[in-house]
Amino acid sequence: MNIGFIGLGIMGKPMAKNLLKAGYSLIVYDVMPAPLAELVQAGATAGKSPKDVASKSELIITMLPNSPHVKAAVLGADGVIEGATPGSILVDMSSIAPLASREMAAALAPKGIEMLDAPVSGGEPKAIDGTLSVMVGGKEDAFAKVKDVLAKMAGSVVLCGDIGAGNVTKLANQIIVALNIAAMSEAFVLATKVGVDPERVFNAIKGGLAGSTVLNAKAPMVLEGNYKPGFRIELHIKDLQNALDTAHENGVPIPLTSQVMEIMQALKVDGKQKEDHGGLIQFYEKLAGVKVRKGQAS
Ligand code: NAD
Repeated sequence: MNIGFIGLGIMGKPMAKNLLKAGYSLIVYDVMPAPLAELVQAGATAGKSPKDVASKSELIITMLPNSPHVKAAVLGADGVIEGATPGSILVDMSSIAPLASREMAAALAPKGIEMLDAPVSGGEPKAIDGTLSVMVGGKEDAFAKVKDVLAKMAGSVVLCGDIGAGNVTKLANQIIVALNIAAMSEAFVLATKVGVDPERVFNAIKGGLAGSTVLNAKAPMVLEGNYKPGFRIELHIKDLQNALDTAHENGVPIPLTSQVMEIMQALKVDGKQKEDHGGLIQFYEKLAGVKVRKGQAS
């Protein structure tokens, strides 16, 4: 199967490399030349545009920042829609607004192009390991055709419902992750200010009910003061905005999400939007006047 891959950033680059390792022939595209050259070095062919990539692929995968970027690459000038042949399948693995997925699928359908939305969870480490969690929306028959390819990048691939359901699931995921990071931040700042080593707090609680994948991933980084992304605060702001919009359009108040959104907005004003979302703890550190570091409290 010829696969096109568009968007070679923190996530797309290792995902595309895993498809090459699995033996698929890949044609790739990014607006930035550096990651494109790196993938060519790894064995891929460089495409000239999303249209060019789509014209040479039965399956086209996109991994781009947000809805406007995906819409530009899919429906814009020299976009996927201009090159893709009837019977081909577009799998958008970006995390975007569910409504945007539905709009694109509707625009592609008359051309005989099927679309699935298939955002991922797991971040850069799991993209490198090929153990991402993929949440998919779309038709069963299209899903059946691409499931084996997605499995080469993933530890789990689950069909959640019709088109848009993948991104609804991803919004649920992002709400849970954001609120977990905020809870961890409040707890560690409290422990530190009261004089208890936050690393010991982490070691004591990680096997109990408060333990979580989020805690295991973010606590070690935070205890080192390491906010290198990973997942940038600006991307989490994008996800929470999509969550708030989708919630309000559907009559669902989500008060805790809006609070964490405001914390992230404050960090953005502070110039920290390019840092990892674990850096959210800096908001609480500033409020309480302490720095959370391992071995620091008595
Ligand atoms: P990124 O910013 O590192 O990469 C995006 C890439 O898309 C860049 O290389 C950029 O040059 C390219 N791009 C932008 N517009 C383009 C266009 N029109 N045509 C071609 N290329 C274009 O972002 P990322 O961290 O790889 O995230 C990608 C998606 O995956 C986002 O939706 C993000 O929310 C989601 N995601 C990220 C993580 C993470 O930990 N980084 C985890 C899960 C999901």
